[in-house]
Amino acid sequence: MLPAAANKPFSHFKHFLHPPSLAFYATVISSMDSPPRFLQPTLSSSAARSPPRLSDIGDGSITLQEWQRWGPVSPIPSKVLEVIDELKLLEKNVDTQMSFGGSGGKLKGDFRTHEEKKHRATYLALDDPESKIHFYAARQIACRLLGSRGYLCQKCWLPLEEDCMCSLLKPCTLWPGIRFWIYMHPKDFLRQNNTGKLLWQIFGPHSATLCIFGISEHEEIMWNAFKSAGKSKVWCLYPNKNSVTTSVQEAFGQESSANQDITPNLTNADEALNFLLIDGTWSNSAAMFRRLKEQSQSVWGEDLPCISLATGVSTMHKLRPQPSWDRTCTAAAAAGLLFELQELIGFSCFGLEKQGEALEDAVSLLLDALTTRRLRMGRSITRKTRHAITN
Ligand SMILES: [Zn+2]
Repeated sequence: MLPAAANKPFSHFKHFLHPPSLAFYATVISSMDSPPRFLQPTLSSSAARSPPRLSDIGDGSITLQEWQRWGPVSPIPSKVLEVIDELKLLEKNVDTQMSFGGSGGKLKGDFRTHEEKKHRATYLALDDPESKIHFYAARQIACRLLGSRGYLCQKCWLPLEEDCMCSLLKPCTLWPGIRFWIYMHPKDFLRQNNTGKLLWQIFGPHSATLCIFGISEHEEIMWNAFKSAGKSKVWCLYPNKNSVTTSVQEAFGQESSANQDITPNLTNADEALNFLLIDGTWSNSAAMFRRLKEQSQSVWGEDLPCISLATGVSTMHKLRPQPSWDRTCTAAAAAGLLFELQELIGFSCFGLEKQGEALEDAVSLLLDALTTRRLRMGRSITRKTRHAITN
């Protein structure tokens, strides 16, 4: 059953009727990979020097600047540094150079065999689930950082030389009454087809902040912000039928906005509404949501407040044969939320529609870049994809 708000005529309905970027999203993003490549700067090779654009890296360690250029606003997570040190030590011990290939900083070759044996043993030796999650996340992030260095653009996460789309992106100021949190699965970090990254590329990292699942420094920053904001200012956007969700209209509509607490006070930055977006594949999202619920219980003794999109989800159901959170990409969901808020009294004069459109434009640019890349690499796009593009 659709919430009552779904029946209301929305002026931005065009966004859902003509979403060239969304209709073929899942088709275009699949199987993006690239040939193996070798990590240039390593500790074990004294002759190896960082390429010019990474000259500040020095001996191959990750600096705070390098880390933050990828998107996070946090210090470098300590577990990530530990894993990088372990990888460098292993490289020295087995006298095999680290090499990476494919998308997402996957280790390749002989080094991979050694590393797999080692990380499995480390993982098994950890006896509590929390440590296992931290190790898993840190290893994913460490490999992605090293494997993408000098290869991906640090801003748009696309191959630097060929596909960087940064010059085309148009940043936009997000109304300060809203702050997005992109709760990203480690496997989505530095993934070329991830759309969560578009949020901070467009709105800036303090209006749209990255929080990586299982990275304790990130989760701590996010939950501290939630605690100081208070439960009434925190909402998770998650279209799970099994969870108790509220529509945007129900949460922020006229009746609710009669309550002074709901409409943010712009004179105080702490008054912003915090919207949490789960940025992972469908299968990973369930575990991520479970973790958020547990954290909410431990902080507030209550479930995490959830909202769902009325227009976005219902219309997207019609557009896609197998709708899922995965295909309703994160950036499009955030845009949908801004469009729905724009319709409500109390939110209509903050330019939210323009901000949502800026995000949608960015999704289109990303999909264009990914499609161009695919064609250049000699991969055909499916008939279904071509159909969607010409529409
Ligand atoms: Zn770029």
